[in-house]
Amino acid sequence: MSIVQHHPRRFETNRYVYPVISRRSGGLSVGVNLSPTGLCNFSCVYCQILGEPEIKNSDSVLINVPKLETELRNVLTAANDGTLYANTYLSSTPPEKRVLRDIAFSGDGEPTLAVQFSEIVNRVADIRRELCSAGTKIVLITNGTTLNAVPVRNAVRVMLDNNGEVWAKLDAGTPEMFRAVSRSRITFQKIVDNLTAAAKEFPLVIQSCFLMLHNEPPKETDIERYADVLNSITNSGGTIQRVQIYTVARSTAEKWATPLSDDTLNTLTEIVRQRTGLQIAAFYSK
Ligand code: SF4
Repeated sequence: MSIVQHHPRRFETNRYVYPVISRRSGGLSVGVNLSPTGLCNFSCVYCQILGEPEIKNSDSVLINVPKLETELRNVLTAANDGTLYANTYLSSTPPEKRVLRDIAFSGDGEPTLAVQFSEIVNRVADIRRELCSAGTKIVLITNGTTLNAVPVRNAVRVMLDNNGEVWAKLDAGTPEMFRAVSRSRITFQKIVDNLTAAAKEFPLVIQSCFLMLHNEPPKETDIERYADVLNSITNSGGTIQRVQIYTVARSTAEKWATPLSDDTLNTLTEIVRQRTGLQIAAFYSK
């Protein structure tokens, strides 16, 4: 397993903060887990977390903010002085990847569902200003379901003032595909509306996972409809900064949710590129 495939969401005795070497960031990403109970309003077939009962059975919903702050300070300080890479799973990190790229709200569920989300974004922004270079991003990785909520929008504005980016999930181009992959009570149209409204206010990075379902890759027409949704967002005046298309790289909630081959991923990425003209990066299963 390469260092970029090794993504534990637990680090030493930490509950909330975990460092990973991220393919999509191209270096060190310090994750902030705001969902230690796995709270999420999606049930993605490829979710790595759904199959981990110890997370679902965890009972403390409220985040211990002082503990989170201490963990974040400790990890960032260790990243700055290099001790983070000694005697941990990060020890094989090549020198060119030992660069702090971002602090990412991610983890075991949908981070914006945490009741203390806004408060924690403000605290993390303060710590970033104190301990990180100006180039360090704050990234929100979200399924987009709450991007219409005023408190979430306000928190996103704080992030944007601190070199922030929002990476929003869109794994489908039709309601049928959305139901098959994301398995949420929230409608596909609601997600598209949220992404469109958000993209009109600030640039979005779209993250899309495509995969085999019961040994079947996505149909070409499904990928075309997906590209049409991206076009509908930009045609409405929204900005999509870039698109990250990837496939499954780790264990999944459902055994029949499996990775696409590199060739298939390349083919569908090209369809989307041709149809949208957007900047697209593909991430393979290995
Ligand atoms: S949105 Fe993320 S955390 Fe929620 S089910 Fe999907 S992959 Fe899992």
